[in-house]
Amino acid sequence: MRALEDDFDRPKEECGVVGFWTHPEMKAEVARMAFFSLYALQHRGQESAGMAVSDGNLVTMHKGMGLVSQVFDETAMTNLKGHFGIGHNRYSTTGDSHVRNAQPYHVSTLHGPLSVAHNGNVTNAAALRKALMERGVGLMSTSDTEVITQYLAAPVPFKDRTAPRWEQRLAQLLDVAEGAYSLVVMTRDCLYAMRDPLGMRPLCLGRLKNRDGKVMGWMVASESSALLTLGAKHLREVGPGEIIRIDKNGITTVKPPVAEKSTAMCIFEHVYFARPDSKIEGQTVQVVRQRMGTQLAKEAPAEADVVFGVPDSSLPSAMAYAEATGLPQTEGLIKNRYIGRTFIEPTQEMRENKVRLKFNALRENLEGKRVVMIDDSIVRGTTMYQLVRLVREAGKAKEVHVRIASPPINNPCYMGVDLASREHLMAAQMDVDAMCKAIGADSLAFLSPEGLHKAVRGDEPKPCGHCDACFTGNYPVDVSFFEESDAKRQFEL
Ligand code: AMP
Repeated sequence: MRALEDDFDRPKEECGVVGFWTHPEMKAEVARMAFFSLYALQHRGQESAGMAVSDGNLVTMHKGMGLVSQVFDETAMTNLKGHFGIGHNRYSTTGDSHVRNAQPYHVSTLHGPLSVAHNGNVTNAAALRKALMERGVGLMSTSDTEVITQYLAAPVPFKDRTAPRWEQRLAQLLDVAEGAYSLVVMTRDCLYAMRDPLGMRPLCLGRLKNRDGKVMGWMVASESSALLTLGAKHLREVGPGEIIRIDKNGITTVKPPVAEKSTAMCIFEHVYFARPDSKIEGQTVQVVRQRMGTQLAKEAPAEADVVFGVPDSSLPSAMAYAEATGLPQTEGLIKNRYIGRTFIEPTQEMRENKVRLKFNALRENLEGKRVVMIDDSIVRGTTMYQLVRLVREAGKAKEVHVRIASPPINNPCYMGVDLASREHLMAAQMDVDAMCKAIGADSLAFLSPEGLHKAVRGDEPKPCGHCDACFTGNYPVDVSFFEESDAKRQFEL
Protein backbone atom coordinates (compact mmCIF):
# COMPACT_ATOMS: atom_id res chain seq x y z
CA MET A 1 0.00 0.00 0.00
CA ARG A 2 1.23 3.48 -0.82
CA ALA A 3 2.10 5.60 2.20
CA LEU A 4 -0.46 8.34 2.80
CA GLU A 5 2.30 10.94 2.82
CA ASP A 6 3.15 10.05 -0.80
CA ASP A 7 0.07 11.90 -1.88
CA PHE A 8 1.39 15.21 -0.59
CA ASP A 9 3.91 15.40 -3.42
CA ARG A 10 1.15 16.15 -5.84
CA PRO A 11 -1.16 19.16 -5.86
CA LYS A 12 -4.71 18.16 -6.38
CA GLU A 13 -7.20 20.64 -5.10
CA GLU A 14 -7.99 23.05 -7.90
CA CYS A 15 -11.70 23.17 -7.24
CA GLY A 16 -14.82 25.28 -7.20
CA VAL A 17 -16.68 26.25 -4.04
CA VAL A 18 -20.02 27.93 -3.36
CA GLY A 19 -21.86 28.99 -0.21
CA PHE A 20 -25.38 30.32 0.40
CA TRP A 21 -27.22 31.94 3.26
CA THR A 22 -30.87 32.96 2.77
CA HIS A 23 -33.53 34.25 5.17
CA PRO A 24 -35.72 31.23 6.08
CA GLU A 25 -38.95 33.16 5.47
CA MET A 26 -37.90 33.77 1.84
CA LYS A 27 -38.20 30.02 1.22
CA ALA A 28 -35.35 30.09 -1.30
CA GLU A 29 -34.47 26.80 -2.93
CA VAL A 30 -30.89 26.76 -1.75
CA ALA A 31 -30.08 23.26 -3.01
CA ARG A 32 -31.24 24.18 -6.50
CA MET A 33 -29.25 27.41 -6.41
CA ALA A 34 -26.17 25.51 -5.27
CA PHE A 35 -26.73 23.00 -8.07
CA PHE A 36 -26.79 25.68 -10.76
CA SER A 37 -23.84 27.55 -9.32
CA LEU A 38 -21.79 24.35 -9.19
CA TYR A 39 -22.84 23.75 -12.78
CA ALA A 40 -21.46 27.20 -13.64
CA LEU A 41 -18.18 26.22 -11.97
CA GLN A 42 -17.97 22.78 -13.58
CA HIS A 43 -14.76 23.80 -15.40
CA ARG A 44 -13.02 24.01 -12.01
CA GLY A 45 -13.55 20.34 -11.26
CA GLN A 46 -15.13 17.34 -12.89
CA GLU A 47 -14.10 14.51 -10.62
CA SER A 48 -16.68 14.83 -7.88
CA ALA A 49 -19.38 17.20 -6.67
CA GLY A 50 -21.18 17.61 -3.39
CA MET A 51 -23.26 19.86 -1.22
CA ALA A 52 -24.38 20.15 2.39
CA VAL A 53 -27.59 22.03 3.18
CA SER A 54 -28.89 23.01 6.60
CA ASP A 55 -32.18 24.23 8.06
CA GLY A 56 -30.42 25.20 11.29
CA ASN A 57 -31.21 21.86 12.92
CA LEU A 58 -30.47 19.19 10.42
CA VAL A 59 -27.67 19.07 7.85
CA THR A 60 -28.31 16.99 4.73
CA MET A 61 -25.46 16.11 2.48
CA HIS A 62 -25.08 14.53 -0.89
CA LYS A 63 -21.85 13.95 -2.78
CA GLY A 64 -20.54 11.60 -5.41
CA MET A 65 -18.11 11.00 -8.23
CA GLY A 66 -18.67 12.65 -11.59
CA LEU A 67 -20.13 15.80 -13.08
CA VAL A 68 -22.69 17.93 -11.24
CA SER A 69 -25.43 16.63 -13.54
CA GLN A 70 -24.45 13.03 -12.78
CA VAL A 71 -24.17 13.44 -9.02
CA PHE A 72 -27.48 15.23 -8.32
CA ASP A 73 -30.64 13.58 -9.57
CA GLU A 74 -34.17 14.66 -8.65
CA THR A 75 -34.30 12.40 -5.57
CA ALA A 76 -31.05 13.78 -4.22
CA MET A 77 -32.26 17.33 -4.81
CA THR A 78 -35.58 16.74 -3.05
CA ASN A 79 -33.80 15.50 0.05
CA LEU A 80 -31.51 18.52 0.29
CA LYS A 81 -33.58 20.91 2.40
CA GLY A 82 -32.56 24.07 4.17
CA HIS A 83 -31.98 27.79 3.92
CA PHE A 84 -28.21 27.74 3.85
CA GLY A 85 -25.58 25.48 2.45
CA ILE A 86 -22.23 24.95 0.79
CA GLY A 87 -21.12 23.10 -2.33
CA HIS A 88 -17.98 21.87 -4.02
CA ASN A 89 -16.62 20.62 -7.35
CA ARG A 90 -13.41 18.67 -7.09
CA TYR A 91 -10.80 18.67 -9.77
CA SER A 92 -9.63 15.34 -11.07
CA THR A 93 -6.02 14.31 -10.85
CA THR A 94 -3.72 11.53 -11.76
CA GLY A 95 -3.75 10.53 -8.10
CA ASP A 96 -6.22 9.10 -5.68
CA SER A 97 -9.64 9.36 -7.26
CA HIS A 98 -12.13 8.27 -4.67
CA VAL A 99 -15.41 9.43 -3.20
CA ARG A 100 -13.80 9.75 0.24
CA ASN A 101 -11.98 12.80 -1.15
CA ALA A 102 -15.24 14.36 -2.36
CA GLN A 103 -16.31 17.46 -0.46
CA PRO A 104 -17.86 19.04 1.59
CA TYR A 105 -16.24 17.49 4.64
CA HIS A 106 -18.66 17.21 7.51
CA VAL A 107 -18.14 16.44 11.20
CA SER A 108 -20.22 16.73 14.36
CA THR A 109 -18.57 18.82 17.04
CA LEU A 110 -19.31 19.75 20.63
CA HIS A 111 -20.79 22.94 19.19
CA GLY A 112 -22.93 21.46 16.45
CA PRO A 113 -22.36 20.49 12.85
CA LEU A 114 -19.35 21.74 10.93
CA SER A 115 -19.10 21.45 7.13
CA VAL A 116 -16.16 22.66 5.07
CA ALA A 117 -15.48 23.04 1.33
CA HIS A 118 -12.04 24.09 0.18
CA ASN A 119 -10.30 25.29 -2.97
CA GLY A 120 -6.52 25.31 -2.89
CA ASN A 121 -3.66 23.36 -1.44
CA VAL A 122 -2.33 23.83 2.08
CA THR A 123 1.42 23.57 1.65
CA ASN A 124 2.19 22.74 5.29
CA ALA A 125 -0.62 20.18 5.57
CA ALA A 126 1.88 17.44 6.52
CA ALA A 127 3.07 19.43 9.56
CA LEU A 128 -0.51 20.31 10.57
CA ARG A 129 -1.48 16.68 10.14
CA LYS A 130 1.29 15.56 12.43
CA ALA A 131 0.35 18.19 15.01
CA LEU A 132 -3.25 16.97 14.97
CA MET A 133 -2.23 13.34 15.30
CA GLU A 134 0.04 14.19 18.23
CA ARG A 135 -3.04 15.60 19.91
CA GLY A 136 -4.82 12.28 19.39
CA VAL A 137 -6.96 13.27 16.40
CA GLY A 138 -7.38 10.40 13.93
CA LEU A 139 -7.57 11.21 10.21
CA MET A 140 -9.31 9.16 7.56
CA SER A 141 -7.94 10.49 4.27
CA THR A 142 -4.91 12.17 2.71
CA SER A 143 -6.85 15.36 2.14
CA ASP A 144 -5.69 18.72 3.45
CA THR A 145 -9.38 19.66 3.69
CA GLU A 146 -9.84 17.02 6.35
CA VAL A 147 -6.88 18.57 8.18
CA ILE A 148 -8.57 21.99 7.97
CA THR A 149 -11.87 20.57 9.21
CA GLN A 150 -10.26 18.81 12.16
CA TYR A 151 -8.19 21.87 12.96
CA LEU A 152 -11.41 23.85 13.25
CA ALA A 153 -13.13 21.12 15.26
CA ALA A 154 -10.20 20.60 17.63
CA PRO A 155 -8.21 23.83 17.74
CA VAL A 156 -5.06 24.22 19.81
CA PRO A 157 -6.60 24.51 23.31
CA PHE A 158 -8.52 27.69 23.98
CA LYS A 159 -8.93 28.85 27.54
CA ASP A 160 -12.64 28.25 27.28
CA ARG A 161 -13.46 25.16 25.27
CA THR A 162 -17.14 25.29 26.08
CA ALA A 163 -17.80 28.18 23.70
CA PRO A 164 -17.79 27.60 19.95
CA ARG A 165 -15.75 30.71 19.08
CA TRP A 166 -15.75 29.72 15.42
CA GLU A 167 -14.30 33.06 14.48
CA GLN A 168 -11.30 32.60 16.73
CA ARG A 169 -10.83 29.10 15.37
CA LEU A 170 -10.88 30.39 11.79
CA ALA A 171 -8.46 33.18 12.67
CA GLN A 172 -6.16 30.65 14.29
CA LEU A 173 -6.28 28.55 11.13
CA LEU A 174 -5.23 31.63 9.15
CA ASP A 175 -2.20 31.93 11.42
CA VAL A 176 -1.03 28.34 11.04
CA ALA A 177 -2.08 27.21 7.55
CA GLU A 178 0.26 28.11 4.68
CA GLY A 179 -0.43 28.03 0.97
CA ALA A 180 -3.69 28.36 -0.87
CA TYR A 181 -7.13 28.06 0.64
CA SER A 182 -10.41 29.68 -0.21
CA LEU A 183 -12.91 28.21 2.23
CA VAL A 184 -16.64 28.09 2.79
CA VAL A 185 -17.57 26.86 6.24
CA MET A 186 -21.04 26.08 7.57
CA THR A 187 -21.79 25.91 11.28
CA ARG A 188 -25.15 25.46 13.05
CA ASP A 189 -26.33 28.97 12.24
CA CYS A 190 -23.73 30.74 10.10
CA LEU A 191 -21.91 30.63 6.84
CA TYR A 192 -18.28 31.74 6.87
CA ALA A 193 -16.12 32.58 3.86
CA MET A 194 -12.40 33.11 4.05
CA ARG A 195 -9.31 33.35 1.87
CA ASP A 196 -5.67 32.67 2.69
CA PRO A 197 -3.59 35.79 3.43
CA LEU A 198 -1.85 35.61 0.03
CA GLY A 199 -5.25 35.49 -1.71
CA MET A 200 -4.01 32.74 -3.99
CA ARG A 201 -7.36 31.32 -5.07
CA PRO A 202 -10.33 33.52 -5.94
CA LEU A 203 -13.55 33.88 -3.94
CA CYS A 204 -16.29 36.47 -4.38
CA LEU A 205 -19.42 37.64 -2.69
CA GLY A 206 -22.87 38.36 -4.11
CA ARG A 207 -26.36 39.40 -3.03
CA LEU A 208 -29.46 37.41 -3.95
CA LYS A 209 -32.79 39.10 -4.58
CA ASN A 210 -36.14 37.57 -5.41
CA ARG A 211 -38.39 38.60 -8.31
CA ASP A 212 -39.93 41.41 -6.24
CA GLY A 213 -36.52 42.89 -5.57
CA LYS A 214 -36.42 41.76 -1.92
CA VAL A 215 -33.05 40.62 -0.56
CA MET A 216 -33.24 36.83 -0.16
CA GLY A 217 -29.71 36.43 1.16
CA TRP A 218 -26.12 36.19 -0.01
CA MET A 219 -23.82 33.81 -1.79
CA VAL A 220 -20.10 33.26 -2.18
CA ALA A 221 -18.48 31.48 -5.10
CA SER A 222 -15.04 30.81 -6.52
CA GLU A 223 -15.89 32.86 -9.58
CA SER A 224 -18.31 35.66 -10.31
CA SER A 225 -19.70 33.82 -13.36
CA ALA A 226 -21.56 31.59 -10.86
CA LEU A 227 -23.18 34.73 -9.40
CA LEU A 228 -24.25 35.87 -12.85
CA THR A 229 -25.86 32.49 -13.50
CA LEU A 230 -28.16 33.03 -10.52
CA GLY A 231 -28.77 36.69 -11.23
CA ALA A 232 -26.95 37.64 -8.00
CA LYS A 233 -25.30 41.03 -7.73
CA HIS A 234 -21.51 40.79 -7.57
CA LEU A 235 -20.73 42.86 -4.48
CA ARG A 236 -16.98 42.32 -4.20
CA GLU A 237 -14.22 39.77 -3.74
CA VAL A 238 -13.52 38.27 -0.35
CA GLY A 239 -10.20 39.92 0.49
CA PRO A 240 -6.96 38.01 1.08
CA GLY A 241 -6.83 36.93 4.72
CA GLU A 242 -10.40 38.15 5.29
CA ILE A 243 -12.99 36.22 7.28
CA ILE A 244 -16.65 36.98 6.55
CA ARG A 245 -19.65 35.78 8.51
CA ILE A 246 -23.07 35.62 6.86
CA ASP A 247 -26.15 35.00 8.98
CA LYS A 248 -29.51 36.55 9.86
CA ASN A 249 -27.74 39.85 10.53
CA GLY A 250 -26.29 40.01 7.03
CA ILE A 251 -22.61 40.22 6.14
CA THR A 252 -20.05 40.92 8.86
CA THR A 253 -16.31 41.19 8.31
CA VAL A 254 -14.89 39.28 11.25
CA LYS A 255 -11.29 39.82 10.24
CA PRO A 256 -10.32 42.48 7.68
CA PRO A 257 -8.22 41.60 4.66
CA VAL A 258 -4.46 42.10 4.51
CA ALA A 259 -2.93 44.78 2.25
CA GLU A 260 -3.42 43.81 -1.41
CA LYS A 261 0.22 44.58 -2.19
CA SER A 262 1.46 41.61 -0.19
CA THR A 263 -0.76 39.15 -2.03
CA ALA A 264 0.08 36.41 -4.51
CA MET A 265 -3.02 35.67 -6.54
CA CYS A 266 -2.45 32.73 -8.92
CA ILE A 267 -1.65 34.19 -12.34
CA PHE A 268 -2.66 30.90 -13.97
CA GLU A 269 -6.31 31.65 -13.13
CA HIS A 270 -6.02 34.43 -15.71
CA VAL A 271 -4.12 32.28 -18.19
CA TYR A 272 -6.27 29.18 -18.17
CA PHE A 273 -8.33 28.27 -15.20
CA ALA A 274 -11.06 30.85 -14.71
CA ARG A 275 -14.03 31.31 -17.01
CA PRO A 276 -13.63 34.25 -19.41
CA ASP A 277 -16.85 35.83 -18.14
CA SER A 278 -15.60 35.88 -14.53
CA LYS A 279 -14.22 38.99 -12.89
CA ILE A 280 -10.99 38.50 -10.98
CA GLU A 281 -9.26 41.42 -9.27
CA GLY A 282 -11.82 43.72 -10.81
CA GLN A 283 -11.10 42.63 -14.37
CA THR A 284 -13.02 40.39 -16.73
CA VAL A 285 -10.82 37.43 -17.60
CA GLN A 286 -11.77 37.62 -21.30
CA VAL A 287 -10.28 41.12 -21.47
CA VAL A 288 -7.10 40.05 -19.68
CA ARG A 289 -6.67 37.17 -22.15
CA GLN A 290 -7.16 39.55 -25.06
CA ARG A 291 -4.35 41.70 -23.67
CA MET A 292 -2.16 38.58 -23.52
CA GLY A 293 -2.82 38.06 -27.25
CA THR A 294 -1.97 41.68 -28.07
CA GLN A 295 1.25 41.44 -26.08
CA LEU A 296 2.13 38.09 -27.70
CA ALA A 297 1.70 39.67 -31.12
CA LYS A 298 4.20 42.38 -30.13
CA GLU A 299 6.70 39.90 -28.76
CA ALA A 300 6.33 37.07 -31.28
CA PRO A 301 4.86 38.01 -34.66
CA ALA A 302 4.91 35.36 -37.41
CA GLU A 303 5.14 35.29 -41.19
CA ALA A 304 1.85 33.59 -41.88
CA ASP A 305 -1.49 33.68 -43.73
CA VAL A 306 -4.04 33.01 -40.99
CA VAL A 307 -4.40 32.83 -37.19
CA PHE A 308 -6.60 30.54 -35.13
CA GLY A 309 -6.90 29.61 -31.47
CA VAL A 310 -7.20 26.20 -29.85
CA PRO A 311 -10.73 26.19 -28.42
CA ASP A 312 -11.70 27.38 -25.84
CA SER A 313 -9.33 29.06 -23.41
CA SER A 314 -7.03 30.56 -26.06
CA LEU A 315 -9.76 32.10 -28.24
CA PRO A 316 -9.61 35.59 -26.66
CA SER A 317 -5.80 35.70 -27.12
CA ALA A 318 -6.07 34.44 -30.71
CA MET A 319 -8.62 37.11 -31.54
CA ALA A 320 -6.39 39.87 -30.16
CA TYR A 321 -3.26 38.40 -31.77
CA ALA A 322 -4.96 38.47 -35.17
CA GLU A 323 -6.13 42.02 -34.65
CA ALA A 324 -2.70 43.24 -33.55
CA THR A 325 -0.80 41.52 -36.37
CA GLY A 326 -3.38 42.33 -39.02
CA LEU A 327 -3.54 38.65 -40.02
CA PRO A 328 -6.99 37.23 -40.82
CA GLN A 329 -8.52 35.10 -38.09
CA THR A 330 -10.09 31.78 -38.92
CA GLU A 331 -11.48 28.64 -37.29
CA GLY A 332 -8.85 25.93 -37.54
CA LEU A 333 -10.09 23.37 -35.06
CA ILE A 334 -13.53 22.23 -34.04
CA LYS A 335 -13.81 20.87 -30.55
CA ASN A 336 -16.22 18.27 -29.30
CA ARG A 337 -17.36 20.06 -26.15
CA TYR A 338 -18.78 16.93 -24.56
CA ILE A 339 -15.60 14.92 -24.33
CA GLY A 340 -14.31 16.51 -21.13
CA ARG A 341 -10.89 17.79 -20.27
CA THR A 342 -7.96 15.88 -21.69
CA PHE A 343 -6.19 16.26 -18.38
CA ILE A 344 -8.62 14.12 -16.48
CA GLU A 345 -7.42 10.76 -17.74
CA PRO A 346 -4.86 9.12 -15.55
CA THR A 347 -2.52 7.57 -18.11
CA GLN A 348 -0.52 9.20 -20.88
CA GLU A 349 -1.99 6.82 -23.45
CA MET A 350 -5.55 7.74 -22.57
CA ARG A 351 -4.67 11.43 -22.58
CA GLU A 352 -3.26 11.15 -26.09
CA ASN A 353 -6.36 9.40 -27.34
CA LYS A 354 -8.56 12.05 -25.84
CA VAL A 355 -6.79 14.87 -27.69
CA ARG A 356 -7.53 13.05 -30.96
CA LEU A 357 -11.09 12.39 -29.87
CA LYS A 358 -11.60 15.99 -28.93
CA PHE A 359 -10.55 17.98 -32.01
CA ASN A 360 -11.08 17.92 -35.76
CA ALA A 361 -9.15 20.17 -38.16
CA LEU A 362 -11.08 22.33 -40.65
CA ARG A 363 -9.23 21.59 -43.88
CA GLU A 364 -11.23 24.16 -45.88
CA ASN A 365 -9.72 26.95 -43.75
CA LEU A 366 -6.19 25.62 -43.47
CA GLU A 367 -5.16 23.83 -46.64
CA GLY A 368 -1.95 25.14 -48.22
CA LYS A 369 -1.71 27.98 -45.70
CA ARG A 370 0.96 29.13 -43.28
CA VAL A 371 -0.97 29.09 -40.03
CA VAL A 372 -0.42 30.55 -36.57
CA MET A 373 -1.96 28.29 -33.93
CA ILE A 374 -2.41 29.96 -30.53
CA ASP A 375 -2.83 28.06 -27.28
CA ASP A 376 -2.83 29.31 -23.70
CA SER A 377 -0.14 26.97 -22.36
CA ILE A 378 2.05 23.95 -22.90
CA VAL A 379 2.28 21.65 -19.90
CA ARG A 380 3.39 18.14 -20.85
CA GLY A 381 3.29 18.95 -24.56
CA THR A 382 0.82 16.13 -25.26
CA THR A 383 -1.88 18.39 -26.65
CA MET A 384 0.35 20.50 -28.85
CA TYR A 385 2.19 17.56 -30.39
CA GLN A 386 -1.13 16.00 -31.40
CA LEU A 387 -2.59 19.27 -32.64
CA VAL A 388 0.36 20.16 -34.86
CA ARG A 389 0.08 16.72 -36.49
CA LEU A 390 -3.65 17.10 -36.92
CA VAL A 391 -3.34 20.55 -38.49
CA ARG A 392 -0.65 19.31 -40.90
CA GLU A 393 -2.11 15.92 -41.76
CA ALA A 394 -5.87 16.42 -41.67
CA GLY A 395 -5.86 20.21 -42.12
CA LYS A 396 -3.14 20.14 -44.84
CA ALA A 397 -1.56 23.35 -43.53
CA LYS A 398 1.72 24.25 -45.25
CA GLU A 399 3.46 25.65 -42.16
CA VAL A 400 2.44 25.55 -38.51
CA HIS A 401 3.70 28.36 -36.26
CA VAL A 402 2.77 27.84 -32.61
CA ARG A 403 2.38 30.82 -30.28
CA ILE A 404 1.63 30.38 -26.60
CA ALA A 405 -0.10 33.15 -24.63
CA SER A 406 1.91 32.44 -21.45
CA PRO A 407 5.56 31.68 -20.66
CA PRO A 408 7.03 28.15 -20.59
CA ILE A 409 5.86 26.21 -17.52
CA ASN A 410 9.01 24.80 -16.01
CA ASN A 411 8.04 24.48 -12.34
CA PRO A 412 5.32 22.43 -10.67
CA CYS A 413 2.49 24.11 -8.79
CA TYR A 414 2.24 23.13 -5.15
CA MET A 415 -0.56 25.57 -4.41
CA GLY A 416 -3.43 23.78 -6.05
CA VAL A 417 -3.23 23.84 -9.85
CA ASP A 418 -2.89 20.33 -11.19
CA LEU A 419 -0.11 20.88 -13.71
CA ALA A 420 2.40 18.01 -13.59
CA SER A 421 5.49 17.08 -11.63
CA ARG A 422 8.76 18.55 -12.85
CA GLU A 423 9.89 15.49 -14.77
CA HIS A 424 6.71 15.65 -16.87
CA LEU A 425 6.82 19.36 -17.64
CA MET A 426 8.07 19.74 -21.18
CA ALA A 427 9.70 23.13 -20.59
CA ALA A 428 11.54 21.82 -17.52
CA GLN A 429 13.20 19.17 -19.65
CA MET A 430 14.25 21.12 -22.77
CA ASP A 431 14.71 24.59 -24.25
CA VAL A 432 12.26 26.27 -26.66
CA ASP A 433 14.09 25.06 -29.80
CA ALA A 434 13.96 21.47 -28.61
CA MET A 435 10.29 21.90 -27.69
CA CYS A 436 9.57 23.22 -31.17
CA LYS A 437 11.17 20.11 -32.66
CA ALA A 438 9.40 17.81 -30.24
CA ILE A 439 5.96 19.15 -31.11
CA GLY A 440 6.84 19.20 -34.82
CA ALA A 441 6.12 22.91 -35.39
CA ASP A 442 7.83 25.23 -37.87
CA SER A 443 8.30 27.79 -35.13
CA LEU A 444 7.37 28.14 -31.48
CA ALA A 445 7.33 31.20 -29.22
CA PHE A 446 5.96 32.04 -25.78
CA LEU A 447 4.81 35.21 -24.07
CA SER A 448 7.49 36.52 -21.70
CA PRO A 449 6.85 36.59 -17.92
CA GLU A 450 7.08 40.41 -18.03
CA GLY A 451 4.60 40.51 -20.92
CA LEU A 452 2.23 38.28 -18.98
CA HIS A 453 2.38 40.50 -15.89
CA LYS A 454 1.82 43.55 -18.01
CA ALA A 455 -1.24 41.96 -19.63
CA VAL A 456 -2.64 40.78 -16.30
CA ARG A 457 -2.13 44.05 -14.48
CA GLY A 458 -3.55 46.11 -17.32
CA ASP A 459 -5.75 48.80 -15.88
CA GLU A 460 -6.23 46.90 -12.62
CA PRO A 461 -7.71 49.34 -10.14
CA LYS A 462 -5.82 47.97 -7.12
CA PRO A 463 -2.15 47.05 -6.78
CA CYS A 464 -2.00 43.30 -6.42
CA GLY A 465 0.81 40.76 -6.37
CA HIS A 466 0.67 37.52 -8.32
CA CYS A 467 2.14 34.06 -7.92
CA ASP A 468 3.92 33.12 -11.15
CA ALA A 469 5.96 30.26 -9.68
CA CYS A 470 5.02 27.82 -12.47
CA PHE A 471 6.78 30.16 -14.91
CA THR A 472 9.59 31.58 -12.76
CA GLY A 473 10.14 29.22 -9.84
CA ASN A 474 9.57 32.13 -7.39
CA TYR A 475 7.31 30.43 -4.87
CA PRO A 476 5.59 32.78 -2.41
CA VAL A 477 5.56 30.06 0.29
CA ASP A 478 8.01 27.48 1.55
CA VAL A 479 7.76 24.48 -0.79
CA SER A 480 10.89 22.63 0.34
CA PHE A 481 8.80 19.70 1.55
CA PHE A 482 7.47 19.14 -1.99
CA GLU A 483 10.78 19.89 -3.69
CA GLU A 484 12.46 17.23 -1.55
CA SER A 485 9.86 14.60 -2.34
CA ASP A 486 10.07 15.54 -6.05
CA ALA A 487 13.83 15.10 -5.99
CA LYS A 488 13.43 11.75 -4.22
CA ARG A 489 10.97 10.57 -6.84
CA GLN A 490 13.17 11.65 -9.74
CA PHE A 491 16.07 9.80 -8.16
CA GLU A 492 13.92 6.69 -7.85
CA LEU A 493 12.74 6.87 -11.47
P1 AMP B 1 -0.38 19.50 -22.26
O1 AMP B 1 -1.03 18.67 -23.29
O2 AMP B 1 0.03 18.68 -21.07
O3 AMP B 1 0.76 20.32 -22.76
O4 AMP B 1 -1.47 20.52 -21.69
C1 AMP B 1 -1.70 21.74 -22.31
C2 AMP B 1 -3.16 21.91 -22.60
O5 AMP B 1 -3.93 21.66 -21.43
C3 AMP B 1 -3.47 23.30 -23.05
O6 AMP B 1 -4.30 23.21 -24.19
C4 AMP B 1 -4.21 23.97 -21.90
O7 AMP B 1 -5.33 24.69 -22.36
C5 AMP B 1 -4.63 22.82 -21.02
N1 AMP B 1 -4.26 23.03 -19.59
C6 AMP B 1 -3.31 23.80 -19.07
N2 AMP B 1 -3.27 23.69 -17.73
C7 AMP B 1 -4.23 22.83 -17.38
C8 AMP B 1 -4.70 22.32 -16.13
N3 AMP B 1 -4.18 22.69 -14.97
N4 AMP B 1 -5.72 21.45 -16.16
C9 AMP B 1 -6.26 21.07 -17.33
N5 AMP B 1 -5.87 21.51 -18.54
C10 AMP B 1 -4.86 22.39 -18.57
